[in-house]
Amino acid sequence: MPKKIMAVGEIREGQLRRVSFETIAAAKAAAEGGEVVGVLIGKEAGVLAEEMIQYGADRVRTAEDEKLGHYTSDGFASAMIAAVEQEQPDGIFFGHTALGKDLAPKIAAQLDAGLVSDVTALEVRSGEVVFTRPIYAGKAFQKVTVPEGLLLAAIRPNNIEPCPRDRTRSGNISPLSFPVKDIRVVIEEVVRKSAGSVDLSEAKVIVAGGRGVKSAEGFRPLQELADVLGGAVGASRGACDAGYCDYSLQIGQTGKVVTPDLYIACGISGAIQHLAGMSNSKVIVAVNKDPDAEIFKVADYGIVGDLFEVVPMLTEELKKVKAVSP
Ligand code: FAD
Repeated sequence: MPKKIMAVGEIREGQLRRVSFETIAAAKAAAEGGEVVGVLIGKEAGVLAEEMIQYGADRVRTAEDEKLGHYTSDGFASAMIAAVEQEQPDGIFFGHTALGKDLAPKIAAQLDAGLVSDVTALEVRSGEVVFTRPIYAGKAFQKVTVPEGLLLAAIRPNNIEPCPRDRTRSGNISPLSFPVKDIRVVIEEVVRKSAGSVDLSEAKVIVAGGRGVKSAEGFRPLQELADVLGGAVGASRGACDAGYCDYSLQIGQTGKVVTPDLYIACGISGAIQHLAGMSNSKVIVAVNKDPDAEIFKVADYGIVGDLFEVVPMLTEELKKVKAVSP
């Protein structure tokens, strides 16, 4: 049966995050030919709403205000509740991001609705949306449905292909009415601890370093390789605990969960807690001088060798390839 599903977009530094388009694609699949209503909250919501339509939303509701320039539970939840009251959707899809992990459970609790988090795939079977999500640190996959009531889901970034952009698509963009004056918390400024140019959770390529990198300086060749590939640098907890890099780069059970197209693990042993954050990457390359390292069990390509020799060699070769076919 066709459904009305709301897809919540995310704005970061004046731009829509890619996960917004993945959420729209997931909502479209679940709507079964029904309506996908984008919801965009933030001070640039009005100007960016059209892009959500170009990526498949049928129309967009916006909440635009200076007080919503940065995410706060308080302000965003109040706008979301207004959107639900005014639209009466069958479902609401979020990104399973820092924002979504805070907002989705809050909305689910307020509306007494079922929430499926960390969704990596979905299908519709006899009118019921069946979600797939990893469990036991990625060792198994669970199929989940919400048999009745409002359906909330949070979609893991980099798992669902967005619809191709169609710049000719048009749709209605209308502001939500909600009590902006009641917002109690406003974030004036965000000071970034690490200023990587590519967002780790959405990166298509990640070059990650472990304790084998041996120092903060040792991360430099990894950054060079990441730069050539247009990717981001990540790390194991071993590297973070040793003080080689910031905890914001940590990948794993207690760090970020990533699903890039290519994950290059350098000097990482492959502890289960690290694998929990990266084993769903599409292609895994491991560089480790220990041929028995656990990481080779999940790697598609393994290089037994010293990362300080292998990584610069890879960078040089890739530069040559890029020079021939940029
Ligand atoms: P090590 O295990 O010390 O491995 C270093 C590797 O580098 C070795 O395999 C070695 O052969 C190789 N090496 C050394 N020198 C070179 C060289 N020159 N060239 C090539 N290879 C070299 N870990 C995470 O990563 N993420 C998490 O989120 C996380 N959460 C945890 C939560 C809990 C509750 C617990 C208990 C642990 C958690 N851990 C996590 C820690 C995890 O168990 C491991 O201790 C950690 O992942 C090890 O990091 P590592 O692989 O960098 O270091």
